Amino acid sequence: MLTGLTLTKAREGLAARKFSARELAKAQLDAIARLNPVLNAYITVLPEETVLAAADAADARYAAGTAGLMDGLPIGVKDLFCTKGVRTTAASKMLENFVPPYESTVTANLLKAGAVFLGKTNLDEFAMGSANITSAFGPVASPWKRKDDPSATLVPGGSSGGSSAAVAAGLGLAATGTDTGGSIRQPAAYCGIVGLKPTYGRCSRWGTIAFASSLDQAGPMTRCVADAGLMLEAMAGFDEKDSTCSNRPVPAFSKAVGKSVKGLRVGIPTEYRSPNLPAEVVAMWEQGIAWLKEAGCEIVDVSLPHTKYGLTTYYIIAPAECSSNLARYDGIRFGIRKDAPTLDGVYEATRAAGFGAEVRNRILMGTYVLSAGYYDAYYLKAQKVRTLIKRDFEQAFENVDVLLTPTAPSAAFAQGENMDDPVQMYLNDIFTVPASMAGVPALSVPVGLNGNGLPLGLQVIGKHFDEETVLSIGGALEAAAGFTHLPSVHAGAGA
Ligand code: GLN
Repeated sequence: MLTGLTLTKAREGLAARKFSARELAKAQLDAIARLNPVLNAYITVLPEETVLAAADAADARYAAGTAGLMDGLPIGVKDLFCTKGVRTTAASKMLENFVPPYESTVTANLLKAGAVFLGKTNLDEFAMGSANITSAFGPVASPWKRKDDPSATLVPGGSSGGSSAAVAAGLGLAATGTDTGGSIRQPAAYCGIVGLKPTYGRCSRWGTIAFASSLDQAGPMTRCVADAGLMLEAMAGFDEKDSTCSNRPVPAFSKAVGKSVKGLRVGIPTEYRSPNLPAEVVAMWEQGIAWLKEAGCEIVDVSLPHTKYGLTTYYIIAPAECSSNLARYDGIRFGIRKDAPTLDGVYEATRAAGFGAEVRNRILMGTYVLSAGYYDAYYLKAQKVRTLIKRDFEQAFENVDVLLTPTAPSAAFAQGENMDDPVQMYLNDIFTVPASMAGVPALSVPVGLNGNGLPLGLQVIGKHFDEETVLSIGGALEAAAGFTHLPSVHAGAGA
């Protein structure tokens, strides 16, 4: 089944001419036509002739022996990456008709490597959320179902929920995501796929619509750990257009998978062992620890004393930066415009019409914590705590190579649950936010199902710019877990 392949297998098949990039792309487009009405994973699907022309060009490169790293591989692109000539909405009414005249660096890198874009995947509005329910283009449905209540529509996680649902259901061999506080890892865990947030600065942010600039990072969402390495290799690299982008060389990440992890030291943060954690999540974590022990790792308890402030400080810093980044949507330069008799009136009417409730909430919070009189008490204080969180990680990494934690405190919930209390929703990010605050790389690997048949993920956190060790450990977990479960809704079902 072409739609069920990993990038690695598809690349091999293309190179051996077992099938063509055109066949691969056509199979994906057919699956999208059939299942996107159910899942709403894509906001925009590219016209068939555009996709097939890109696939034909890839086939020609295979024939000429000049194929790139991602040549002919059909993937989804989160609708937060600007794509030249292709509508880019950030899932907001504000940008519903925005067609960028430029290509983001990450998508340009993927195109250079030969990737075939299928379309733009759905997300929470401006990447703010954990359930993909704040999109102005409607929520995304998870392809997974609860065993005891198959009629409930589950969330795919967020904000990269369109990407995670698409990859899990066979509507793209992989997809790009972005992660500010967990938006690659948590949806990957909810949908039973792999998600990697690289080190801050590994991928250029240029041309990716900004949420919180000191936290935003692009990364791959894939079906296996080796694919995450392969795709990151194509996405990453120095870019002079982003001053925070690193000029370190990009290693051959996919080669890190399958390397022995014998003798590596794995830290277990004691503070994360909360008594409120569901027993099945604890059991999966214990299982992960046992697998790594069997693979020859040494398990060490470590302390990250300030991470308990991670969530509260994140929800000061991220809204502060978002309030500043989103100030540009004023009806003058980008997106929609609502006319009014005065300039202030134009701003007010445009922003009231263009932004949804969650985005407005965050802009208000952010403006408040940055305002004179509150800046020192909230924003400055949060920045200081952020430094302490970063120091916790640095100290832990003097003693261990990686950390292992659950990715999320639960499996996916249903649409409608957790919705009336924003704090309950923000708690989803409890395990993912600290790595974002510290800027270190973190990977989510699917390791098993809970009692209700839903995927659970474990998170591997590594040292700055040491994605390779993270991928090696992730590969060991993947090999031990042998997670091959498919969701109820997927392209191969009934085909
Ligand atoms: N769920 C988090 C938030 O709502 C993280 C989002 C993200 O990483 N983009 O801010």
